[in-house]
Amino acid sequence: MRAARISAFGGPEVFGVTEVPTPEPAPGEVLVRIRAAALNRADINIREGRFPEAPPPPMTLGVEGAGVVAALGDGVTGLSVGDRVVINPMLVCDACEFCRSGRDSECRGLQVVGEHFDGTYAEYIALPVRNLIPAPDRLSDTQLAAGLVAYLTAWHMLKTRGGLRRGESVLVVGAGSGVASAAVQVAKALGATVIATTGSERKAERVRALGADEVVDYRAEPDFHEAVRKLTGGDGVDLVHETVGEATVQKSVLAARHGGRVLGMGSHTGRYAELDLWSLYRREITFIGCHTGNRAEIAEFLPLLADGSLTPVLDSVHSLEDAVAAQARLASSDRFGKVVLSVD
Ligand SMILES: [Zn+2]
Repeated sequence: MRAARISAFGGPEVFGVTEVPTPEPAPGEVLVRIRAAALNRADINIREGRFPEAPPPPMTLGVEGAGVVAALGDGVTGLSVGDRVVINPMLVCDACEFCRSGRDSECRGLQVVGEHFDGTYAEYIALPVRNLIPAPDRLSDTQLAAGLVAYLTAWHMLKTRGGLRRGESVLVVGAGSGVASAAVQVAKALGATVIATTGSERKAERVRALGADEVVDYRAEPDFHEAVRKLTGGDGVDLVHETVGEATVQKSVLAARHGGRVLGMGSHTGRYAELDLWSLYRREITFIGCHTGNRAEIAEFLPLLADGSLTPVLDSVHSLEDAVAAQARLASSDRFGKVVLSVD
C-alpha cells in the first residue's frame, strides 16, 4: 500500500510517499481502507521530533481518518466489509482505574493512532473493532475524517469539563482552528451565547456563519478581553475556551467574569506563559485543564453530527502526495477549519 511517511525527524523534506506492506488485521481487529485523513498540529510536532512518546522513524503520521471496512480479523462482530466507519484514535486498556470510571482519556496505557504507532496518512490501517464507529450517512469521507477529534475535544472541554449550561456566555479564542471552530458550534448547540475572536474580516464572516453571536477581530483589537467586557456589560463571560497558549492565556483569564471558568487545552504559541496570579485569585477564576476526550462522549455528540446540528469545517483537501503542502497549510495563519488528505 502507499503511505506518506517520515524517514527521520526534521522539516518537510523528511516526508515521502512509499510502498509498505498492507497490515493484516489481528484477531479482534478490522482492516480499514482509508478514504480521508485529517491533519492535526500533533503531526507537525511529531515530524519535528518534539513528541517524546513517538517511536523512532520511519513512521506513518495521521491521527484521524475515515474509510470503508476492507477485511475482518477473527472474532469480529458488529461490522461488515463495505461499512463506512470513522476512527476513534485512542486505544485504551479497559482495565485501569481511569478506564473503569469512564475517564479513558487518562488511561495509563493510552496509545494514540499516528502518535504511538503508524497512522492514517496511508491507504490502509488495522485497528481494534471497538475503535471504529459506524459513520452517519449525511457526512462525506472528508467531513467524517475531520469531524471526530475536533468535536470530541470541544465537547469534552465545554460540556464535560466546563459544565456549560444553557443561557451561559462563552468566549472562543482563536476560532479559526479545527477545535475552536467546532467549539463555536458546540457552544451554540448547547444553548450558549457565543463571542469568538479571530484575525481577519474574512474569518469573522465564517465564524458568524457557524453561529457566533459576536466576533472580535484581535488584529484590530489586540486587547480582546476589553472588547469582550464591553460586549458583556463590563462583566466578562461565564466560560472561556482557550486553545492558543502563551499569546492569549492572560487575556483569556481577564475576559472571564468574576467567578468564571477558563478551559485550557493546546499551546501552539508557547507552553510557558506569564500570568498575573491576582487576575485569577482576586476574581476567583477556576482554571480547568483539559486533555482530549472520553469514548462515552462520542455517543453524546454523534447524533448532532448525524442530524446536521454540527457540520465539520473544512479548510482544504489535498492528495496523499501533497502531505507536505497540507502540513504547510495547517500551520498557515490563513487557515480556517480542518486540513484533510483525500486517499484515493
Ligand atoms: Zn486504561
